[in-house]
Amino acid sequence: MLGAHKNSGAEKRHCSFIQLRVYYEIESTKWTGNCLSFLFCRIILSIVMSATDRKLRVFLCHASQDKPIVRELYQRLLAEGWIDPWLDKEKLLPGQAWELEIEKSVEDADVVIVCLSKSSVAKEGYYQKEIKKVLDVADEKPEGTIFIIPLRLDNCQLPRRLSKWEYVDYFPVSYKPTGYGSLLGGLRSKLDMIIKRCEFCGDQISEKLTIKCKECGTFYHLKCWEKIGTCLICQSGESEMLM
Ligand SMILES: [Zn+2]
Ligand SMILES: [Zn+2]
Repeated sequence: MLGAHKNSGAEKRHCSFIQLRVYYEIESTKWTGNCLSFLFCRIILSIVMSATDRKLRVFLCHASQDKPIVRELYQRLLAEGWIDPWLDKEKLLPGQAWELEIEKSVEDADVVIVCLSKSSVAKEGYYQKEIKKVLDVADEKPEGTIFIIPLRLDNCQLPRRLSKWEYVDYFPVSYKPTGYGSLLGGLRSKLDMIIKRCEFCGDQISEKLTIKCKECGTFYHLKCWEKIGTCLICQSGESEMLM
């Protein structure tokens, strides 16, 4: 399953079905006492579980005129396997209220990459509104966390309101591999931080009494999970205890 956390109801249902089936097979195998196929089912189960590991949700904020280069970046990030990038055209289904859907995706994102170019910086309209929304969400994040990464697509002036965030250059062509490398480094350290934190209270998680959402792999303290009962990210109630 590609770890799309939204618009993937069919995939999720399919995945739960596999898990249910594997579970059922394990139970029935226990019943017949066939150790070999029990082992086989355990292997399948671990493959299914690793495929649902938590991915980093990355929102790509950009203006329409930068779409070609942003789409190329989207494909690169998607190919990494541990990133779930969000690009409006790729994820929005026809008929979805896009403005609301984009707002929700910014709120759900772990990191927002704000793509900047000379033309987009000067552009008025929805793109500026989107940046404002991103900054509003960033205000609610704890101090010192990586949430916004401004990405310069050309030699544009960084808008003042974004200047407190460390930016990455994605130009000229000769510098792109280096720029992409530092972008990836930032994203990786964010994922490492998230993996060790409870989605509900935001605190660090120790090894004991950890709950992992079976659907999307998000972690919770046991005491936090008992309060909410369903995953804040995917709304699934299916969880497993990690010892
Ligand atoms: Zn917690
Ligand atoms: Zn979940």
